[in-house]
Amino acid sequence: MRVAVVTVGDELLAGETVDTNASWLGEQLTARGVTVERVVTLPDREADIARVVNEYRAEYDAVVVTGGLGPTHDDLTMAGIAAAFGVPLERNEEALSWLEAEGGYTREDLAEGTAELPKGGRPLHNDVGVAPGCVVGSVYVLPGVPAEMKAMFDAIRAEFEGTVLHVESIVVAEPESALVERFAQVREEFDVTLGSYPGENVSVRFRGADPEEVRAAAAWLAERSETVEE
Ligand code: ATP
Ligand code: MG
Repeated sequence: MRVAVVTVGDELLAGETVDTNASWLGEQLTARGVTVERVVTLPDREADIARVVNEYRAEYDAVVVTGGLGPTHDDLTMAGIAAAFGVPLERNEEALSWLEAEGGYTREDLAEGTAELPKGGRPLHNDVGVAPGCVVGSVYVLPGVPAEMKAMFDAIRAEFEGTVLHVESIVVAEPESALVERFAQVREEFDVTLGSYPGENVSVRFRGADPEEVRAAAAWLAERSETVEE
């Protein structure tokens, strides 16, 4: 399963808030064997959200969107999703009933627009905050507040699955440039993908569906390199 993650918020683009939602979702989805192919951050602008979500829902098996829910003027995500699908926003009775029954709110308590979702969407309840999320087709819309986003993702986690890749890492105390030839040989001889992440030393990560193959590739390079403990 190939997935795109879209985070929405002017504050993310301005660097005022670190996009921890994207990294958390990347980790969670990867752990389920899903391939995250895009992480994109968009401004709080309806047309941008509509255009990018429309493009990505055609390209990927699912799109996970976070941020910009709720009833304030800069919460434009639901409008953008509705526009992407060419449907109106409408009050979602199921979401409202849940907020009354489980959230302890009366309809009068709730700000205008709180439970407006794209027509035909499946509401996702917010156990931690107020604003509901929703699923429209293959697009999952979650809140921006990290604790709310995580709780809501837990409820839909099972809908994401793929082949979990096995990962092995070694750390090499040689310059990356010195490893080029050996990297080429590993890639030729083993059915793995190889990531090289330089820092003080070079962390080399091997990924593949067959654990034996991944272990063999890591052992092959470790034997031929100056490795250090991580
Ligand atoms: P609510 O459910 O409260 O209506 P929301 O979906 O409207 O939330 P936002 O208004 O976009 O969420 O953001 C709420 C808070 O969460 C802000 O403090 C924001 O900086 C933070 N936040 C939003 N997106 C992210 C993200 N991708 N990573 C980390 N924090 C985020
Ligand atoms: Mg916002």
